[in-house]
Amino acid sequence: MPSAQQAVLSRDALQTLLDHLKERGYRVLGPTVRDQAIVYDDIDGVGDLPEGWTDTQDGGRYRLEKRDDSALFGYAVGPQSWKKFLHRPAIRLWHAKREGEAVNVSAEPDSGTPYAFIGVRSCELHAIAIQDRVLLGGTYVDPHYQARREGAFIVAVNCSVAGGTCFCVSMHTGPKADAGFDLALTELLDGDGHRFLVEVGTDLGAEVLAALPHRSATQEESEAAQAVVANTAANMGRTMQAEDVPQLLMRNLKHPRWDDVAQRCLTCANCTMVCPTCFCTTVDQTSDLTGTESAAWRRWDSCFTVDFTYIHGGSVRTSTQSRYRQWMTHKLATWVDQFGSSGCVGCGRCITWCPVGIDITEEVQAIRESEPQ
Ligand code: SF4
Ligand code: SF4
Repeated sequence: MPSAQQAVLSRDALQTLLDHLKERGYRVLGPTVRDQAIVYDDIDGVGDLPEGWTDTQDGGRYRLEKRDDSALFGYAVGPQSWKKFLHRPAIRLWHAKREGEAVNVSAEPDSGTPYAFIGVRSCELHAIAIQDRVLLGGTYVDPHYQARREGAFIVAVNCSVAGGTCFCVSMHTGPKADAGFDLALTELLDGDGHRFLVEVGTDLGAEVLAALPHRSATQEESEAAQAVVANTAANMGRTMQAEDVPQLLMRNLKHPRWDDVAQRCLTCANCTMVCPTCFCTTVDQTSDLTGTESAAWRRWDSCFTVDFTYIHGGSVRTSTQSRYRQWMTHKLATWVDQFGSSGCVGCGRCITWCPVGIDITEEVQAIRESEPQ
């Protein structure tokens, strides 16, 4: 969108945006501080946002710290992604109850309340686009994901700080939101006040913006917003030479580094739980003690568990080495063959939330450096 069409919202108008989305029937979700982390949850207003907080991140380390200003979006990403709403950790698929001679089976209805996501980062927009391809783009559409994804209103926020484990620049997924949003904000905090430069991504976004008090952005404000993103891009916590990673990994399937990482990996599955693109699930059948009721639950699963590859006679990937290699080669290499893009958006969560600090960028680099140059 040309700068002449960019708008500016005041901090008060941000509250009006949240109120307006509620009036339109959206369930408004955004970042908030809970349990010493920034998580995504229902928010009532600007007061619920993580004002004045930032995060410091490194391998196996995440801490919140106070900023010396009142930025509302002055952090990178927390442990959760929007996957927790669109591709739920656990859903009941159906429920059956014996009533006399009959067994009544009922499917679980999906909530009809559409979501409004506030504060979606560029890497997260790319992760949602990847899950769209996986869960909506093939022969078999996931109706549960579809019900939650359709009608979602997305307010992106361009990143003003890079986390210590971020590498979106390497993955070409950030830090500026380029598509997949209805509105995109850049937070400006300077001598001219606290305000948000707004870019419009859809007709619906334009309609919502029109209902809010706003004014046109000045040239200086547009340039200031560009400078915010440029500064973030210049301060990535990690880098990965990503272009040839598929070929690099696939010609090194027997590399001793897989044994090395297996000595450190706990196969706890944290990396897959926090990853915004991992999508694997399993289905558990449950019944009550009297045998009159039964239900099928779908829950997130992980390629790090032994059961994940269980077929008659045992599991296919019994070693830690084979499970870590499966995860990383799928994420960075075979995902490209399967879905046409990398499965990694460079959000850094798997590095931050790995209890032993295993770093996907470091593992790639170790294999790269072992090859003759
Ligand atoms: S790489 Fe880290 S987070 Fe992932 S399974 Fe191994 S120990 Fe857990
Ligand atoms: S593999 Fe790690 S860095 Fe890449 S998208 Fe998943 S959690 Fe983020």
